[in-house]
Amino acid sequence: MDTDQPASTSLETALITSGRPPREPGAPLSPPVTFASTFVQGGERAYARAGQPTWDAFEDVVGALEGGRSLAFASGLAALGAVLELVPPDGVVVAPRVGYSGTRTVLEAGVDGGRYTARFVGGSDLAAVRDAVSGADLVWVETPTNPMLETVDLEAVIGAAHGAQALVAVDATFASPMRIRPLELGADLAMHSATKIMSGHSDLLMGVVSTASADLHQRLADIRTRTGGVAGPMETWLALRGLRTLAVRLDRAESSAGWLAERLGGHPSVVRVRYPGFGAMIAVEVADATAADSVVDAVRLWVPATSLGGVESSLERRRSWPDESPDVPDGLLRLSVGLESPEDLWSDLAAALELSRTGIVDPV
Ligand SMILES: *Cc1c(COP(=O)(O)O)cnc(C)c1O
Repeated sequence: MDTDQPASTSLETALITSGRPPREPGAPLSPPVTFASTFVQGGERAYARAGQPTWDAFEDVVGALEGGRSLAFASGLAALGAVLELVPPDGVVVAPRVGYSGTRTVLEAGVDGGRYTARFVGGSDLAAVRDAVSGADLVWVETPTNPMLETVDLEAVIGAAHGAQALVAVDATFASPMRIRPLELGADLAMHSATKIMSGHSDLLMGVVSTASADLHQRLADIRTRTGGVAGPMETWLALRGLRTLAVRLDRAESSAGWLAERLGGHPSVVRVRYPGFGAMIAVEVADATAADSVVDAVRLWVPATSLGGVESSLERRRSWPDESPDVPDGLLRLSVGLESPEDLWSDLAAALELSRTGIVDPV
């Protein structure tokens, strides 16, 4: 929006300076939320399904982070749906065998409907990815994966996919653009569920797709206008407001998550901890479903809830969802670390873990 800003050298600064109204005497610092379905004829906008000013502000910020141009969608899955529209009829999609369950459900529905075929591979299994990309139109990557927290060698996967002339789209929701910027590594598309840590307050659903290609940007904008999976102005404004603090929220949640992951690794009730070394998400395996359910029942500070990336720490046993992959262990708890005191988070969790194994309530 404001072209008078100095070129930002850091993502932290871009988060704050992008998507602002022009810096003029009397101008608001914060972009207003524009509630409008239609615009007076003769200007650059006509109808809000094709574009509106609150989106522009949000998209400017995400674009500055990703190093491309961004498009806001009504949800992460609306963004996925738009990207899948790029796949030609009877095309081939390569996707992770174990990733976000909603993505897999969408892809399976597309396959069942005869729209395209899908090859599901272990995302971190490079040999399998290399075998699968031949003849593919789109390689959908998730890193780190939800909920197993596996990371993918993006450069290798992008190289393999491009070698086969396939587009590469990367769902980096768990990392946010502060930690992984797929476009810089050569991916064609970077996607996020902005519902999660990008907006960060568990109060809206949104998705976003970014690309450095003018052609892909135009095609996706046309798809969005045609399919109408558009974000409301209020959600977009809230997401933008949440985004301004992404860097500090993530730094804080990440430092707590690293500290908690270490302690969890030493707890006698814990079988395995998965933490990729960055971000706010941890996967903790306990003995079985019963033990995991008992942890969820016993916590008092952590909120038993699905979704993630909010200021509130939350957890859930992923296999309590019938559509979760059977490759996810029964006793796996997905933890989303928020902004509470890490000591408080640990004492609540440690007491619940203790109770799940011994049946004894720790008096501390
Ligand atoms: C939540 C999530 C999605 C879907 O996003 P919605 O905003 O819920 O539609 C996609 N990918 C990942 C990794 C997610 O965690």
